[in-house]
Amino acid sequence: MIYIALGANIGERATQLSAAIDEMERTGLTVTKQSSVYETAPVGYTEQPSFYNMVVEVETRQSPDELLDILQQIEHRLGRERLFKNGPRTIDLDILFYNEEDIQSEYLTVPHPRMQERAFVLAPLAEIAPQLIVHGRTVESWLERLPMTDRQDVIRLQLLSNLVK
Ligand code: ADP
Ligand code: MG
Repeated sequence: MIYIALGANIGERATQLSAAIDEMERTGLTVTKQSSVYETAPVGYTEQPSFYNMVVEVETRQSPDELLDILQQIEHRLGRERLFKNGPRTIDLDILFYNEEDIQSEYLTVPHPRMQERAFVLAPLAEIAPQLIVHGRTVESWLERLPMTDRQDVIRLQLLSNLVK
């Protein structure tokens, strides 16, 4: 199983999530599951719009490095500008999990090293892969361990989720 996190907080956020999924499929990735869309208060630098976040499961024969390359090309095509770390961006595509692989290279750390602390990753991932084991625990139990305040900052947008297809 391969899971990718999507995030956007500039412009038409839902449109950008939708466009990123379209681009993934156009590039030959098969999207096999998709979470709802969640709205999340910004973490770190808080003087910026809220994020829309979601997670998808994909199937591909591309290697992790090739997949990262594909995702970065999509980020650029959708006009991503990286102003500064944790700052606003049109689209951010991160590889959360790639089968059982443990990767630590200059370009890639998989499973994503901070995913178990982030409600905006765990909430959508728990929707489509609650029993997936990352960093020694299920996604569901990582989510349960987060402080309630973190979880409350992540809101499922039910109506919008039906539109992003
Ligand atoms: P962030 O996602 O942390 O906000 P960026 O999207 O700007 O930051 O990514 C910075 C770098 O992180 C990328 O150039 C990429 O090489 C590296 N990276 C390391 N691990 C991953 C991963 N699992 N998924 C995506 N990028 C990763
Ligand atoms: Mg990223």
